[in-house]
Amino acid sequence: MNNKFSIAIHGGAGTLVKGMMTPELEARYKNDLQTAMNAGYAVLEQGQSAVEAVEAAVVVLENSPLFNAGKGAVFTATGTHEMDASIMDGKSLNAGAVSLITGIKNPVSLARDVMEKSEHVFLAGDGAHEFAKGLNYKFEDASYFYDEFRHNQWLEIRDTDSFQLDHSTKKDSKFGTVGAVACDKDGNIAAATSTGGMTNKKWGRVGDSPMVGAGNYANNKTCAISCTGSGEFFIRGVVAYDVACLMEHKGMSLDEAANEVIHKRILEIGGDGGLIAVDSKGNISMPFNTEGMYRASKNSNGEVEVSIYG
Ligand code: ASP
Repeated sequence: MNNKFSIAIHGGAGTLVKGMMTPELEARYKNDLQTAMNAGYAVLEQGQSAVEAVEAAVVVLENSPLFNAGKGAVFTATGTHEMDASIMDGKSLNAGAVSLITGIKNPVSLARDVMEKSEHVFLAGDGAHEFAKGLNYKFEDASYFYDEFRHNQWLEIRDTDSFQLDHSTKKDSKFGTVGAVACDKDGNIAAATSTGGMTNKKWGRVGDSPMVGAGNYANNKTCAISCTGSGEFFIRGVVAYDVACLMEHKGMSLDEAANEVIHKRILEIGGDGGLIAVDSKGNISMPFNTEGMYRASKNSNGEVEVSIYG
């Protein structure tokens, strides 16, 4: 039995456009981050698995309208919502992922079902919906995902060719993807990530979040990682797996490897964002190269952090 267990979560790297963050809004963000962290931590405390914990934490974030995942997912170019999610079990290296999902309240749970109830790792679009129907998932109608703020974000750019990261009313760099990583009492680790992607995205654009090794990865030998940031760069940098590789092949610690990737390697190719990471000893690292990252963490030594800025 492991002596330390821990959880870390994020609600996206970056910050809101200046002037948009009020003390009330900041308190709401922190409250929802804390609720998600506590949900995951309670699962670990009861002796359940890291996979259970990361799913429980991400479900809370998906149900919050504040983050770009589940209920708060941003609008695509055609005014719909297309969500991506993934989950990975560091003990077995099993993984499940879904992309271009519409109408599913908790895409992370569908990703987990792909992992545990199908022969596959990654299901997309109509096929993923068929799979969900076979498991009697309830499909929410579009009104469940409607949010005035998100809709206004989209209206501003719908007639242009541009797409935008979360929370912009003018250009800014707030990413709203959510994720969780956890180390359980047995020293098993897991990671989960969920997103609505980018406002006004088209052509079936898929980011790093559902991609094993890019936006999400877990392996007991090294680390569990969930990323947030400019997905195209995180895919090209194979960011989550790169952190694991630096630990495995260069003998770096969790913190050294996570910082090397976020403050050096991903910057060199132009990527901005951050990640959360745990290893099987329950250590946590949460680096970001943006102004802030919505994040929270808690371990069984009683250390707690709930922060937005650097
Ligand atoms: N990485 C996500 C994507 O590119 C965006 C985010 O982190 O909010 O889809």
